[in-house]
Amino acid sequence: MTNIDDKKLQFDDVLISPKLSNINSRKEVILDTVVEFPNSGISWEGIPIMASNMDFVGTFEMGLSLQDFNVTTAISKFYSPNDWVNAVNAGLDLDFNFMTFGLDNIKKIHGFFSFMDKKISQIPKFIVFDVPNGYIDSFHSLISDTRKEFPRLGIMAGNVVTPDGVAKIMDSGADGVKVGIGSGSVCSTTNVTGVGYPQMSAIIECVDEINKFSGFIISDGGVKSSADVVKAYAGGSGFVMVGSLLSGHSQGLAPVILKDNKSFRQLYGMSSAEAMQKHYGGVAEYRASEGISVLVEDRGNVKNTITEVLGGLRSACTYINANNIGEISSNAKLIRI
Ligand code: 5GP
Repeated sequence: MTNIDDKKLQFDDVLISPKLSNINSRKEVILDTVVEFPNSGISWEGIPIMASNMDFVGTFEMGLSLQDFNVTTAISKFYSPNDWVNAVNAGLDLDFNFMTFGLDNIKKIHGFFSFMDKKISQIPKFIVFDVPNGYIDSFHSLISDTRKEFPRLGIMAGNVVTPDGVAKIMDSGADGVKVGIGSGSVCSTTNVTGVGYPQMSAIIECVDEINKFSGFIISDGGVKSSADVVKAYAGGSGFVMVGSLLSGHSQGLAPVILKDNKSFRQLYGMSSAEAMQKHYGGVAEYRASEGISVLVEDRGNVKNTITEVLGGLRSACTYINANNIGEISSNAKLIRI
């Protein structure tokens, strides 16, 4: 029997205790951090925040804006190889923009890569495998097939929320594991299925496992502010993926909707009826929608928001004497409130 007495934590259940610091100004904090990819043997450097591969967030326009801040974007899987070629020709940087796949066939990955190779002599350096349920066999086979074909490709894959899920994905050949089920702002999985895991606890418990592989975790879902980004790093997350935090901006390309004299933009879950209607022509009979649609106030250019988020991160680092993001987890003392 599972022990259900153990209280699990959300971001809101914790704070970070301050400590004596010799960092006198936010200006002294360098956010750029190196992340090692153990199975591909490559490394990545930048600010390990990742815009989510959702409609109205993970667009090429978002990637082109965020790369100026060394921030990454998991680009929506609904772009064609030709769209990728055009985006790279328009300046999209493959160090900061990651190609996303779902439960696809290895042939599809081959197709995308060889098309890009032929047209622009460049192929993605990093990819993200994103499925709602990262526990299924066929997903692990896809990761190991991809690893065999592309030994030096940075592979991030998920989602899972438990150490056994992390171990399986790392054993399949990934470098990093995306963690989060039921935490997303427009996710209704917990309501529909009863399955999920509070995000702060999921991070902490999965980090113990990922450390055995020298890999990293991408915390995915539930971030409402820069504070939650800091808490995710404090728990040991390598990257932090955000959806709603970066929604509502012009770069997401959701049309502006006027309501009560205010401007809004739509955000919907990728398993919502809206997403399934758009990409697959409807909700298949055997499945239920596991996402909702919301209106987010229009916040204009994403550059304003990301500047604020990075300001919050710098400030957090001065409170806990962390010279960079990599030092947050070793310096932060999380307290339960
Ligand atoms: P947010 O940062 O908005 O809290 O969470 C973003 C994450 O929610 C995404 O990266 C993805 O993992 C998850 N997500 C997006 N759409 C859906 C959906 O329709 N259903 C579920 N269960 N999760 C979703």
